[in-house]
Amino acid sequence: MGNAANHPVNLILLGPPGAGKGTQARMLAERFGLVQLSTGDLLRGAVAAGTAAGLAAKAVMERGALVSDEIVLAVLKERLDQPDVAAGTILDGFPRTTAQAEALDALLAGRGERIDAVISLEVDDAAMIERVSGRYTCAACGEGYHDSFKTPAVSGVCDKCGGTEMKRRADDNAETVRTRLQAYHAETAPLVTYYAARGTLSRVPAMGEIGAIAERMQAIVAALETGLASA
Ligand code: AMP
Repeated sequence: MGNAANHPVNLILLGPPGAGKGTQARMLAERFGLVQLSTGDLLRGAVAAGTAAGLAAKAVMERGALVSDEIVLAVLKERLDQPDVAAGTILDGFPRTTAQAEALDALLAGRGERIDAVISLEVDDAAMIERVSGRYTCAACGEGYHDSFKTPAVSGVCDKCGGTEMKRRADDNAETVRTRLQAYHAETAPLVTYYAARGTLSRVPAMGEIGAIAERMQAIVAALETGLASA
């Protein structure tokens, strides 16, 4: 997706754990040909690969705290250097602190780019613990499921790809989710004000049905594309 200024479109999804950032980012990426960049996924990859960044991040992630800006920025920069991101990006789980937001602004400015839109997924905290504690994904294709809200048609078999290996994140337990929610409110929620002040923020109520929320988000991105093309 390009625009008149001919720079790739960059979006941010904000919201607490369980708000649906990952699910919605995947759907938007598919619909608009953008690349989903999840710092959580990048860090989990680093942990699995046993890199120095992964070793430093592992224990912090297990207790639900935020990994240092230095490590997160390093894994993000490495990912941004890969050619596929030229299509435009959806940042999911980054930035999470004001310092990260400022570093991102500087990083993008250096590339002649900027953040075009920030979508804040607005949810009830209390429901997030149940949502996150019951979720799991297909190891093969990443399709998301939930013990109570979305089970596959045949137990243990992915509806989308037929895969039979399901995985749960180590930090998706009730205790860690509480710490992650606290980190969100203390460190990340101020970013809603940060981006509102820059005029790039849209708020989307995100307690409802996934498809309806996705439509609302697609409309925001489509309007952005039109606005940029006629700018
Ligand atoms: P997520 O997959 O976005 O829920 O992230 C899982 C965990 O990775 C978080 O609880 C943090 O420990 C770490 N993490 C992911 N993104 C960031 C970030 N931008 N800044 C700091 N820590 C992060």
